Amino acid sequence: MSTLPKIDAPVIVRFAPSPTGKLHVGNVRTALMNWLFVRQNGGHMILRIDDTDLERSTKAYEEGIKTDMSWLGLNWDSSFNQSARFERYDAVRDELIAKGLLYPCYETSEDLDRQRKLQRVAGKPPVYNRAALELTDSDRAALEADGRKPHWRFKLSGDKVSWTDLVRGEQNVDTSSLSDPVLIRADGSYLYTLPSVVDDIDAGITHVIRGEDHVTNSGAQIEIFRAVSDHLPTFAHTPLLVGKDGKGLSKRLGSLSMEELRKDYFEPLAIASLLGKIGTSDPIEIRPSMAVLTEEFSFDKIGRAPARFDEDELLLLNSRLLHETDYDDVKDRLDKLGVAGGEPLWTLARANVSKLTDMAGWSTVVFAPMAGQIADEDAAFCKTAADCLPAKFDDETWSEWTSKLKSETGRKGKGLFLPLRLALTGRAGGPSMGDMLQMLGPDKAKARLRGEAA
Ligand code: GLU
Repeated sequence: MSTLPKIDAPVIVRFAPSPTGKLHVGNVRTALMNWLFVRQNGGHMILRIDDTDLERSTKAYEEGIKTDMSWLGLNWDSSFNQSARFERYDAVRDELIAKGLLYPCYETSEDLDRQRKLQRVAGKPPVYNRAALELTDSDRAALEADGRKPHWRFKLSGDKVSWTDLVRGEQNVDTSSLSDPVLIRADGSYLYTLPSVVDDIDAGITHVIRGEDHVTNSGAQIEIFRAVSDHLPTFAHTPLLVGKDGKGLSKRLGSLSMEELRKDYFEPLAIASLLGKIGTSDPIEIRPSMAVLTEEFSFDKIGRAPARFDEDELLLLNSRLLHETDYDDVKDRLDKLGVAGGEPLWTLARANVSKLTDMAGWSTVVFAPMAGQIADEDAAFCKTAADCLPAKFDDETWSEWTSKLKSETGRKGKGLFLPLRLALTGRAGGPSMGDMLQMLGPDKAKARLRGEAA
C-alpha cells in the first residue's frame, strides 16, 4: 500500500512507534495524549508503524505494541507500515533533489568528527560546513569511482522557523544553528525525518502530538513540509517523562514496559489515570473511565516541566481502583491466577490488595492449611480463645466472642486483637476480622488458635 486512503475527519492524529522495542510508560503517554485528544474531537487515530529500519524492526515487537495498545483501550482507526511506502518516499526524495534541496555528501564519520573538533577549537558551533555543496560533478564522479557512496542532506534555509505549539506556545527554531539533517544514509536507507513528513502530508495529519525531544526536528521537518506541500499540521510537544528523582527513565524502561505491567496484572485504567494526569494541573487520582479522562483532557493543562513518573504512585492508584472494582470485572483474571474463594473472598479482601496478584496471598490465608502465628506469651490466651469460640458463626460472632475474651482475660485493644489476627491469619494486618472469621469457619479457626495447621 503505497498510497494512503483519504480520511474524512475533523481531527487526524497518528501515534508512530518504531517496532524496535516494547511499549513503555514514556511512549504510552504520547499514545494516550493522541488518543484522548482525538476521541474528545471525534477524530481519526492512525497507528503508524515506523519500521523503515528494517534490521532492527521486528514483527514480534509490532504485534506486542498492538497487543499492549488494545489492552490499554487505546484503539486506533487505521494503521499502516512505513516499510510499505518506500516508493512514495523515493518520489519525494527525487522531488527534493530536483529542487536542489537534497544534496549528496561524501564525508565519512571520521571526517565529520575531525571537522567538529576543529570547530570546537575555533570556538565555533558544530554545524555541518556544507563542503559537499562545493563539489563539482567531476569531484563526485571521482569519489564514486573510488567506491564512496553518498549520504543525503536536506538544505535548511538558514531562517527562523516559527510555530505555535499547543503545549509550548510560540516556538522558534533558528535553522542557521543546525546542521543540514541527513535524510538518507549512505546505504540508501531513510532516517525517520523524511518518511514521517511524507506520511503526515499524505494522511492529512492535523495534529502532530509527540515528545519534546522532537522540537528541533520540527524546525527541520516544517521546512520539508513547506518544500513539498501546502499542508502543515499543528504541533504539540509534551514534556518528557522522568523518574520521581527527576532523572531520565531510559535505564528503567525495561521494567516499565506495558508487557511487564500487564503480566504483573496492573489495571489499564490506573496506568491511564496516572499517565494522563502527571505533569498536568489536574490532581493525580484514579478516574472512573477512559471517557472521563477524555472529557477532562486539555493541552492547556499540560505544564512545561518534565512529568514525574513514580511507580509507588501507580501502585497506590492501582489499589484505589481495585478497592472499588466489582467481582464481575476481575473474575476472569482471578480464575486465571487460580485464586479460590470467588466473590466472598474478593469482597473480603479487595480493600487489602494493591495488585490483583495479591489476592493469591489472601486465598492462601483462607484456604491453604497453615498454623497461625502465636508468640509464646500469647499461647495460653489463644487456647482460651479457642475454647470459648462458639460453634455457630454469624455477623455478631466476632464482637460477642472478643467481648467475652476481654472480660475473661482482662486483655484489651491491641493486646486482645493482634494475637487473634496473627493466630488466625498469620498476618498483622488485613480485612475486617469479623468477616475473616466467618470465611475461615469454626473448625479452621479453632485449630489455628491452638497452633495446629488447618
Ligand atoms: N517513530 C518516531 C519516534 O518514536 C515518531 C516520532 C513522531 O511522532 O514523529 O520517535
